[in-house]
Amino acid sequence: MTLTLLPLTDGAFFIDNSGLERLRCPRAFQYSELNRRSAIAERAGANFGSTIHRGLETRYNNVGTNEVDDLTKVKIEADMLAWLSENPQPENDFRNYNHACKMMAVYNNIYKKEEFEILKNQAGKPIIEATFALPFGEIPATESLYVNQGTDDLVPIIYCGKIDLGIEDHNGIWSFDHKTSFQFGDTFDKQMAMDGGQLGYCWALSQVTGKKPQGYIIDAIRVRRPSKKDEFSEKSCIDGTDFKRTPYYVSQDMLDEWKADVLALIQNIFAYHAAGHFPRHRWNCTNKYGMCDYYDVCSCPREQRDMILNGSLFEENTWTKGLKI
Ligand code: SF4
Repeated sequence: MTLTLLPLTDGAFFIDNSGLERLRCPRAFQYSELNRRSAIAERAGANFGSTIHRGLETRYNNVGTNEVDDLTKVKIEADMLAWLSENPQPENDFRNYNHACKMMAVYNNIYKKEEFEILKNQAGKPIIEATFALPFGEIPATESLYVNQGTDDLVPIIYCGKIDLGIEDHNGIWSFDHKTSFQFGDTFDKQMAMDGGQLGYCWALSQVTGKKPQGYIIDAIRVRRPSKKDEFSEKSCIDGTDFKRTPYYVSQDMLDEWKADVLALIQNIFAYHAAGHFPRHRWNCTNKYGMCDYYDVCSCPREQRDMILNGSLFEENTWTKGLKI
């Protein structure tokens, strides 16, 4: 497979958390970020998560930290419906509009009046689903980038993404991240404790506010499949056990180490690109929660992979990088 040029914008390399996550296997990074292809199947979970994000964005934009009123409830549901109309779920999937409305109703009932303030950026805008693109450092260009893509000797790196909510409570400021999951438990908690993306949001928040955050709070929402019994019951299949908020404290040293790690990983991307080969790290092809999105590509002979990747199982990866808050 011929490598495309490394994606640069005005000579700068943009990276976000989803690109960094793909680096668990460099080949997955290539397919996602260079070939710009993403799998069509298995998106229902992520799409439902995006639906809930729309609902939460509407809630915090409309009532801030106050209790949700009837008008806002209508707006929340309308915004989720608009999202799902543009991004429909597979037919018969339980994670549909009705389920989203039920989840938001229970969430708003549990978290009525919030015990925090929503932070504002330097332009006075509340930090709610706030996109950012922030200068992150510079990395020496490889000869290939310099010669073939006309970069300067040093390539500027821009870290981008979206902060769900920036908040302040009696302990200080926090990145507040809504996270949908199909299960809670020790593994989920440990994943959240080691989630590099959360350190990225803390770093971004420190740049935007000029203050070091205490850390991040995971606003976890469990999305359970209703049981057969629930389907015929008047009782909601969603209850208080499906919601929990956990703070994770972050030191300056953790942020510094995360930043050094990310720069080293980007240097690896440049090196793979210069070598014309993004290797396959095969230990993520299958895992506890399913197969890698690119399993069907990698399991084919090399000469067929272009065809599979450009075929009907995949579509253009249209995920856009963030804009400055
Ligand atoms: S299937 Fe395996 S080798 Fe291929 S991109 Fe995914 S993790 Fe990498």
